[in-house]
Amino acid sequence: MTNEQLLKVAQEFGSPVYVYDAEKISNQYKRLTNAFKSVKKLKINYAVKALSNISILKFFNKLGSGIDTVSIQEVNLGLAASFLPEQIIFTPNGVSLSEIEEAAKLGVQINIDNLSILEQFGTKHPNIPVCIRINPHVMAGGNANISVGHIDSKFGISIHQIPHILRIVENTKMTINGIHMHTGSDILDIDVFLYASEILFETAKQFKNLDFIDFGSGFKVPYKAGDIETNIEELGKKLTKKFNSFCKDYGKELTLAFEPGKFLVSESGHFLTQVNAVKQTTSTVFAQVDSGFNHLIRPMLYGSHHDIINISNANGRERFYTVVGYICETDTFGNNRRINEINDGDILCFKNAGAYCFSMASNYNSRYRPAEVLWHNNKAHLIRKRETFDDILKNQVEIDFGKKQEAALVK
Ligand SMILES: *Cc1c(COP(=O)(O)O)cnc(C)c1O
Repeated sequence: MTNEQLLKVAQEFGSPVYVYDAEKISNQYKRLTNAFKSVKKLKINYAVKALSNISILKFFNKLGSGIDTVSIQEVNLGLAASFLPEQIIFTPNGVSLSEIEEAAKLGVQINIDNLSILEQFGTKHPNIPVCIRINPHVMAGGNANISVGHIDSKFGISIHQIPHILRIVENTKMTINGIHMHTGSDILDIDVFLYASEILFETAKQFKNLDFIDFGSGFKVPYKAGDIETNIEELGKKLTKKFNSFCKDYGKELTLAFEPGKFLVSESGHFLTQVNAVKQTTSTVFAQVDSGFNHLIRPMLYGSHHDIINISNANGRERFYTVVGYICETDTFGNNRRINEINDGDILCFKNAGAYCFSMASNYNSRYRPAEVLWHNNKAHLIRKRETFDDILKNQVEIDFGKKQEAALVK
């Protein structure tokens, strides 16, 4: 999207506002499917938690994608967006057996990552095939908070526990139809990913009734100029070769599945905020915007970088600013950034605002969550209204404490 188009969206829908470019989403989807075009059966399951607006889900449905879900609410959202149960995989962590049963009842593919749950589920429902999430103990990601494959991770069943899985399968007569891994976000080195996939293939050999192998996600996208990103094309070539040769040995054409979130939506997103004031202190020039970590928590939560550009003055001379929010505690979006000169009222655009941005927004400081707009076929479509004061009070229950006591008069 051009700066002019973004500015027009801010004018029409107000700020702060999230804007997603549908074309970028479909380009990323096509890039991924193209990289794996030599796999006969490929399935992309978009990870709903990255950006879960129903219109975004419907757009993925139209692209031919399935979805990866982590809560029963996401499953229901997917069904509401017209996905068929068989296009949905449920990959929760730490949820109750009853939530898993609820999803199974709806007909979605279950993915289990806990031995005790596997045993209970297999005992009660031996006829429902399940996928198991393996922890290959490979450190794929850079950030400790989002890397989930390491030895102490709460995710997955350790590869060292395969004998125990096999015993449960034998005892319960349940069917394992898929093997899954998700090693966390930000894979920098595809060799590490390929190494993890070898472990997955070794594991897969021990299960005779597989329909698919799911390699999860964690693809890295560039956040700023010069950033490395996962080389999807190269990964496609190398993994396809390994996968096809595995299928030959296995004696069956399996489905290769992925479940990317960030890769598909991160770069499509732009978060537009308006500058309330430029404030000079003894050491810093702050640009204070009409938002905060209530709307975009990633910089404060994981120290993630979002490029910030001044779309109201894109050719102005560059100066240094620290861009901060209005939340009443430290709320820094970007420290000491070189940005085109900022004046009160300018619109700042945060890049890479598609994944884990709106979906993590809250009402902290009793602020409204922003509106969301989908830019599709050169037109802006409102896909979520900005909240109102009614939304803040909704579900709150007021108690009547009776008549106010007279304050004691100080004489
Ligand atoms: C969050 C998540 C994903 C998506 O990860 P990205 O880094 O956004 O691609 C995929 N699979 C599972 C199980 C997840 O929890």
